[in-house]
Parts: sequence; C-alpha cells; structure tokens
Amino acid sequence: MAMLIDGKATSRAVRDEIRAETERFLKATGMLPGLAVVIVGEDPASQIYVRNKHKACEEVGFLSQVHALPEATTQEELDALVEKLNHDPAIHGILVQLPLPKHLDAEEVLLRIDPEKDVDAFHPVNVGKIMIGTDSFLPCTPAGIIVLLKRHGIEIAGKRCVVIGRSNIVGKPMALLLLRENGTVTICHSRTKDLASVTREADILVSSVGKAKFVTADMVKEGAVVIDVGMNRDEAGKLCGDVDFSAVEPHVSAITPVPGGVGPMTITMLLQNTLKAAKKAAGIA
Ligand code: NAP
Repeated sequence: MAMLIDGKATSRAVRDEIRAETERFLKATGMLPGLAVVIVGEDPASQIYVRNKHKACEEVGFLSQVHALPEATTQEELDALVEKLNHDPAIHGILVQLPLPKHLDAEEVLLRIDPEKDVDAFHPVNVGKIMIGTDSFLPCTPAGIIVLLKRHGIEIAGKRCVVIGRSNIVGKPMALLLLRENGTVTICHSRTKDLASVTREADILVSSVGKAKFVTADMVKEGAVVIDVGMNRDEAGKLCGDVDFSAVEPHVSAITPVPGGVGPMTITMLLQNTLKAAKKAAGIA
C-alpha cells in the first residue's frame, strides 16, 4: 500500500512552529506579523478562501486584516488601498484575492504591491528572484509541496520529476523548485505529445491540470511518488484531485489524497512567508 502524504498533519506541525516563532518575534519586537487580505465583490469561493486565511492567521497569533470592498470599487480606490497598506508598518504581507471583478486590472494591482510585502510571490520582481535563486518568498502551493516531500522523507535530488501543467502559480514555479532541489525536471502541457510515455518516466509526478480522473494507472511508473494539486468536483459534486486515486494508489509508493494533501499546505506557506516578511522588516534574519 502506498504511503499517504498527509498534508493536514504536516500543515499542523508547521503551523505549531510558526506559532512558537511568532511568540519569539513578539517578545523581541513588541509586534505581531501582520497580513492584510483585500477582497473585492461577492465571489463565494473567494469569500471562503479569505475566511480561511483570516482563521489561519488568528490560529498562529498574527495580526489579520480583511479589507472587503464592494463590487463597484474603482481601480483608483483599489490601488489607493494597496498603496496605504504598502506604507503601513503593522502590515508585513499583502494579498489581493483573485479573481477580481472584470472591470479591475489584476496585473496592475499586483504590480503595485511592494515586493517586500508580496507574500503570494506573484510580483514580477519576486518571480525573477525565484528564477535566479535570490528569492525572499516562494509561491505557496509549490513551496508547500516541497515541504511535504521533505517531511515525508522523499528524496528529490537526482530523481526524474514530471510536472503536468505550466501555469504561473503552480506548474512553472513547481518545476523551478524541483530543479532547485536537484531533480531532473520535465514540464508537460496540453500540447505535449504522448503524455503517458513522459509521465511513466517520473519518479515524482506532480499533476496540476484541473481535470478529475486525468491521471490514470497507465500513466504512472510502479513505485512512483504522485502529488495531486488538482481541486475539482466529481460527478457527485465531491471535491477530488486530478488523479484517479483508487486506480493509481496500488501502483505507487506515496501519494497525496484530495482533500487533505496539497491543499492544507498552501495557506500554511502564506503564513510562513508573512512571518519571513515581518522578520525581514524588523531586521531579524
Ligand atoms: P491552469 O492555469 O488552468 O493550468 C492548467 C494546466 O494544465 C495548463 O498548463 C494546461 O496546459 C494543462 N493541461 C490542460 N489540459 C491538459 C492535457 N490534456 N494534457 C496536459 N496538460 C494539460 O490551472 P492552475 O491554476 O495551474 O491549477 C491547476 C489545478 O490545481 C486546478 O484544479 C486548481 O484548482 C488546483 N490548484 C490547487 C491549489 C491548492 O492549494 N491545492 C492551488 C492552486 C491551484 P496549457 O498551458 O497548454 O493550456
């Protein structure tokens, strides 16, 4: 039977460490790490994500601000709020929840966030730093996957790693982080020819496609490690990943479940980036 890579337990352990470090930070500086989340409009999924981020901040003892703006907010109003947060010394991390309503330019607002407070690591300055390895922050979902692999004793160096998906928030940074850990990395996408022949080469296979039951048993090598980033709904409306879990699990050595795998780590990495930003702002390494 495959080892289940437990995102919930790993996330709890990392959050415990963050909570302890937050107490030390408070003693040393008299301040709390502060995260401001900006949400515009009424998108129900975004509201849940923002609520979860707020709860996670409270759990580790951070200062948490949620700025909920009405749907009719103008670009100028949104930009002005981001500028205000850029200059607020109590705020170390700023996150603008995406997607924004259609009349707002997400790229423009993301460019306005001070790169030192860009805890999602979406600003081009941070993306560039990740590419050359001088980064302050790592993008949350891929960073969480590296932590999961390491804390489950899975060696990356020298392994054949295949990432399906090349989005800016998951696939591309995932490939870079695996490369940094000395994996030999291949990125696949919708134009990849004979995908299964490539994925069958993988010692570590990461799927970030967004299609239920996309990764089937014939696409994995016996004994591979499978990381499922997908968050999809099955025919019954139940949350599921990209991997046909029951068919693939008997063939692999380790696998992330959905839910309870990659998902719980993403917000935890956001907390870690915020703590890092706070320590940097306070001059603590
Ligand atoms: P995305 O921007 O839609 O990217 C999907 C990628 O899959 C694209 O690069 C696309 O290729 C590729 N793809 C689509 N069909 C394919 C096919 N038939 N064969 C090979 N590749 C194919 O999605 P995303 O934002 O990266 O998210 C991917 C999934 O991860 C979604 O389910 C999302 O909900 C989930 N997610 C989870 C977390 C978490 O915390 N657990 C965080 C972020 C995202 P092209 O580039 O050629 O179109």
